[in-house]
Amino acid sequence: RESKGKLPRYPGLERYSLVEKMGDGAFSNVYRARDREGQFEEVAIKVVRKFEMNSTQIMRNLDHPNIVKLVEFSESRQYYYIILELCPGGELFHQIVRLTYFSEDLSRHVITQVAKSLEYLHEVAGVVHRDIKPENLLFYPTPFVPTRNPKPKGPEDEDKADEGEFIKGQGAGGIGVVKIADFGLSKVIWDSQTMTPCGTVGYTAPEIVKDERYSKSVDMWALGCVLYTLLCGFPPFYDESIQVLTEKVARGQYTFLSPWWDDISKSAQDLVSHLLTVDPEKRYDIIQFLNHPWIREADEPTYAAH
Ligand code: ADP
Ligand code: MG
Repeated sequence: RESKGKLPRYPGLERYSLVEKMGDGAFSNVYRARDREGQFEEVAIKVVRKFEMNSTQIMRNLDHPNIVKLVEFSESRQYYYIILELCPGGELFHQIVRLTYFSEDLSRHVITQVAKSLEYLHEVAGVVHRDIKPENLLFYPTPFVPTRNPKPKGPEDEDKADEGEFIKGQGAGGIGVVKIADFGLSKVIWDSQTMTPCGTVGYTAPEIVKDERYSKSVDMWALGCVLYTLLCGFPPFYDESIQVLTEKVARGQYTFLSPWWDDISKSAQDLVSHLLTVDPEKRYDIIQFLNHPWIREADEPTYAAH
């Protein structure tokens, strides 16, 4: 992380003092910053060169507990400044690296929150995110953060699993509130006011209607990749060669690799396979996802006697 002295000064951002650089996005610099005047003491500021951005228009209208809030927006000659609700927990990606993988309970806790925000985006706001991945899932660590794996799986992760303990107790609890960030690639697919596909009224062609469904299914595929990764600690599709990787994805060529998947429930595997389905017509949509038994298990309090 950069030290305070090295942080740049941006014209027009004098009201904030930049504290540290948070993430390195492909298209942006994001800083943690103190706000001397606003409603939030601390915020995240995403600085984007003007020719690289188009997404704040979308974020402005979104209001959901699992979506990072746009607090304010300003600009200078060269930059856009996107002032965001700060997620002090950072990226979910770092938690996966730290914990090796998540227990099924913890995975469910995380993925359900991501799914709730997708439900809102797809069914209420008419927006597809198009860049769902662990780097764009941030969290607000409240009220407790596990620092170790509940159960080590194999000899290879035993030492990692033994690190640390649950801070502030609560055993199988969550990691806090998970929020979707980075609407840089997202797109409005239908007008939430008129409930019609964007730009058309009444005479919508079937391919447009289909198009809308397909674009939502892109997020569902990504949701499947995230869930797979949470459960075992590595992504479903990987190859050092981009060409081979692309082939594998196109064919939907993945496996529940032994021994890592041996102890993961059939129900969780069933859900993953309904998301990593190549045919977008057959792939689960967000409603089917939320109704799957593996997700609904969460409705039952864990202390209930069976
Ligand atoms: P990019 O489009 O460049 O990927 P992101 O919006 O994903 O930009 O931001 C890049 C990184 O900055 C994120 O992956 C995350 O690490 C960090 N970041 C972004 N927004 C916030 C926030 N509100 N709170 C904390 N960290 C953030
Ligand atoms: Mg990003």
